[in-house]
Formats: sequence, C-alpha cells, structure tokens
Amino acid sequence: MHKTNIMAGICKACGGTIDVIIGNGDVPQGHVPSPSDFAICNSCGVIGNFDKDMNIVECNDDDLDKLMDENPEMYIQMYSASILIKKIAAMRKGKM
Ligand SMILES: [Zn+2]
Repeated sequence: MHKTNIMAGICKACGGTIDVIIGNGDVPQGHVPSPSDFAICNSCGVIGNFDKDMNIVECNDDDLDKLMDENPEMYIQMYSASILIKKIAAMRKGKM
C-alpha cells in the first residue's frame, strides 16, 4: 500500500479538502486517480468514490459490499484506515 498525492476536490460528507488517496498494491506509483476510484477522506474518514469533479462522495452499503467481494484486501485496508482517521478526528475534536 502506498499513498499518492493528488490535487482533488472536497469531501461531500464533511467539506474537507482531499489531498491523499490510498491505493492497493496493484496501483502503480504516480497513479492519477480517476472518477469512480475509491478514496478515503483524511479529515473525516469517510470511504467514498471520486465523482467527475474529483470530489469524494460517500459510498453506500452496496458499493462497499461490492468492493468487499471484488477486492477484500483493499476493503480491509480502506476500512482500517477509515477507522483510524475517525479516531484521530474524534481526538482532535475533543481537544479543541
Ligand atoms: Zn470528509
């Protein structure tokens, strides 16, 4: 797993700016994300897909079920990252 820095839009769930995506091992270094790629918001931890304007739109349960079937390894990575980001976000909120 590696991170790819991108210029992208905002998270529709929290309004945060998206600057990082996490790809699975099959994603080549320097991969340019495209619409329908999965992404995690690094502000609120939401798992979503990019829309055509490269904003993150939160996945529904069907999308996540499909990902779990097609690519369980990536699903687990994204799910773990999502939980971690949500915990960090909650800690930051508690301190402010
Ligand atoms: Zn967000």
